[in-house]
Amino acid sequence: MKTVRLSDTLTMDRIIHGHWRLLDWKMTKEELLHFIEEVMDLGITTVDTADIYGGFSCEEAFGEALKLKKGLRERLTIVTKCGIVFPCENRPQFKTHHYDNSRKHILTSVDRSLKNFGTDYLDLLLIHRPSPFMDPAEVSEAFRELYQSGKVRNFGVSNYKPSQFELLSSYVEYPLVTNQVEISPLTLDVFQDGTMDSIMTRGLYPMAWSPLAGGELFTGKSERAINVRNMLLAIGEKHNEDRIDTLAYAFLLSHPGKILPIVGSGKIERIKNAVDALDIRFSAEDWLSVYKASIGESLP
Ligand code: NAP
Repeated sequence: MKTVRLSDTLTMDRIIHGHWRLLDWKMTKEELLHFIEEVMDLGITTVDTADIYGGFSCEEAFGEALKLKKGLRERLTIVTKCGIVFPCENRPQFKTHHYDNSRKHILTSVDRSLKNFGTDYLDLLLIHRPSPFMDPAEVSEAFRELYQSGKVRNFGVSNYKPSQFELLSSYVEYPLVTNQVEISPLTLDVFQDGTMDSIMTRGLYPMAWSPLAGGELFTGKSERAINVRNMLLAIGEKHNEDRIDTLAYAFLLSHPGKILPIVGSGKIERIKNAVDALDIRFSAEDWLSVYKASIGESLP
């Protein structure tokens, strides 16, 4: 597996496996362990999750599988997130959906994540969403405590616009190592709103969530989805490739910004389709043909 180095203590695979939909996979802990090991056999050892996934239950389900095999956690790079809260069965104490980036909430959330995974460190913690009420000094304080206690080795953010990234960066002592943002052939905002420019300016690599637009790339009936599918297939002919997901991942992986797609599938064949994309490189002409098909405009 190709990797990228984000810091002295963090190397991530070019392709990451995401656990947001873990409950949909309906696996026992033994089946989940087997699946995790199959994904690792494909070379993917970086896992993305979040405290809130599955109504605050996916981390624990992942941890239950991890605990079945001694030494497995050390072979994985675990990314998780905190900061979003909403009322649900597992968290009746939360009364409304909001963002909590207070020092106390960040520390409590990390302690819970560590317990869920049965580990004493996280490789990377992301603040899940920017909040208009965030106090960057407090986030910085929480990061310092987490780093100094060894509980978290690296920090980053998710869904941050460039100015929000600059704001938090200017307060924290430990560099933010990535911004996890939505990117797919159907979701190209980061190339238009300065987010990708700001990530590349800092020499960072973005993690890309919903790289297949949550499945919309296959099922979407909009003109945009149809045009993008057709364009991907037309380019695929040059590479003797007709798997739309492989072509979509190749589109992301070919970008000079070293995008790290997070594969959300619970099916091993589909994860393999992502890994196969590492062998396909889109030319600038082909990449921009997909871009034009998606935005529905010609280039100026
Ligand atoms: P995705 O890859 O865009 O979508 C995955 C969905 O597409 C699954 O339901 C999958 O079903 C379906 N799919 C895959 N191949 C398909 C095909 N050939 N035909 C029809 N459907 C197909 O990724 P995602 O799950 O939305 O997101 C990936 C990861 O990003 C998440 O797991 C999470 O870690 C992260 N994420 C982060 C944020 C954030 O705010 N930071 C937000 C959302 C997600 P099968 O399982 O049946 O293959």
